Amino acid sequence: MYQDVLLHIDGQWRAATGGRTIPVLNPATEEVIGTVPHASQADMDEALAAAERGFATWRKVSAYERAKLMRKAADLLRSRADSIAKLMTLEQGKPLPEAKMEVMAGADIIDWFAEEARRAYGRVIPARGEGIYQLVVKEPVGPVAAFTPWNFPINQVVRKLSAALATGCSIIVKAPEETPASPAELIRCFIDVGLPQGVVGLLYGVPAEISSYLIPHPTIRKVTFTGSTPVGKHLAELAGKHMKRATMELGGHAPAIVFDDADVEVASKTLATSKFRNAGQVCVSPTRFLVQEKVFDQFVEKFTAYAKSVKVGNGLEEGTQMGPLANDRRIPAMEALIGDATQKGAELRAGGSRIGNKGYFFEPTVLTGLTREMRAMNEEPFGPLALMVPFRDFDEVVEEANRLPFGLAAYAFTRSAKTANAIASQVESGMMTINHLGLALPEVPFGGIKDSGYGSEGGSEAIEAYLNTKFVTQAGL
Ligand code: NAD
Repeated sequence: MYQDVLLHIDGQWRAATGGRTIPVLNPATEEVIGTVPHASQADMDEALAAAERGFATWRKVSAYERAKLMRKAADLLRSRADSIAKLMTLEQGKPLPEAKMEVMAGADIIDWFAEEARRAYGRVIPARGEGIYQLVVKEPVGPVAAFTPWNFPINQVVRKLSAALATGCSIIVKAPEETPASPAELIRCFIDVGLPQGVVGLLYGVPAEISSYLIPHPTIRKVTFTGSTPVGKHLAELAGKHMKRATMELGGHAPAIVFDDADVEVASKTLATSKFRNAGQVCVSPTRFLVQEKVFDQFVEKFTAYAKSVKVGNGLEEGTQMGPLANDRRIPAMEALIGDATQKGAELRAGGSRIGNKGYFFEPTVLTGLTREMRAMNEEPFGPLALMVPFRDFDEVVEEANRLPFGLAAYAFTRSAKTANAIASQVESGMMTINHLGLALPEVPFGGIKDSGYGSEGGSEAIEAYLNTKFVTQAGL
């Protein structure tokens, strides 16, 4: 069922000029399942020219009509969810139900942004003189360049695409080469419901070749990137140099704080499920489990029991709870972090190794006995690795939570409203979820601070990032 993926440029699905391709692998079998085109500079030039024309067309379409078309695309996406989810599992590895959930959530995101498009209000400011009108008008920022990663092949595209289309921008998406088919099918839904030519372009190739060409190009007015902090800093620098608006959704190392008055049963189950979702390859994945001393052993025991019970396997097989890691780079990355920690004295409570030698399967892993000198305590694992660290009191846990340069998501469990308020205000993070998992709905802000980036991919802030503010003042004739 997996077919070779194509570029989408100026209304056409086509191969790269020059015909170069990149193989696509199934991470569960390591077999080549298809190819994706490697765009040339000529392809990028065509995509840029099309985006310029697409913007001129799309910005004139009313928000009401844009919203109508977006909702049609969302419905089409829902109707194709089963087949698209299968493509996603084949190329990315995650269990089929998780893939289906991502596709369905993608449709909800489109619907939400479609509605929000109709509410991109400006305002009227009271004037100092009679007959003067002072207007604040919102206008689309212009053609957007979007760079998205392989962990959520649809979700990472749909947030950027929906915000751009809702506001009247055109967009060129550089989607992930490792998981190219599912984002291409997302974009096909928009094309199939009649999105005008040039409004969306889709490129694949060598990420650095494409970003270094698109970001400085005068056609592009906004850059949006999801990925690692080092790449994000590089792209932000490029965007800054060329004075382009930018949204950066980067890495994290989320603290998950469990106070001794928490419901340990609920906390361990909720956090363990969250940790191993998408094999831990999630920017908001809980990573440092900071647990108050009195309940530390109990929490670790419950969490470890869950980790050992997780059924790891091919995402297409029924009952699989965790698929393989998405690419071969994650295996040595995980081994290096775990090896460094155990060599420096950490204790393996569960997992720690690759499973088999075909497919990038890795055991859900739990470590205790950690110190700040260990790499895992400082670098984003981006895999199924849970770090258990006891703490004595509130001040100590706040200091540890804020120790790293990241500031994306944070989790806390406590029965005390006073503690909940205090921890929410003192942890440096863009998002904080307390006593449940409540992140990433389309209507709520999604983004980080510090080295985790800037800007939001959810809530009304996400629309704002694609709009210019123009002030118009007018005196009556
Ligand atoms: P990487 O840092 O090389 O790439 C991360 C992402 O950035 C990929 O999607 C890649 O295509 C893209 N990228 C890399 N260089 C680029 C460039 N010059 N221009 C434009 N895009 C570029 O590493 P990787 O091995 O793909 O992923 C590993 C790390 O990336 C993880 O440890 C994690 O920290 C981070 N990551 C984060 C997210 C997220 O959701 N925030 C998603 C995927 C990966």
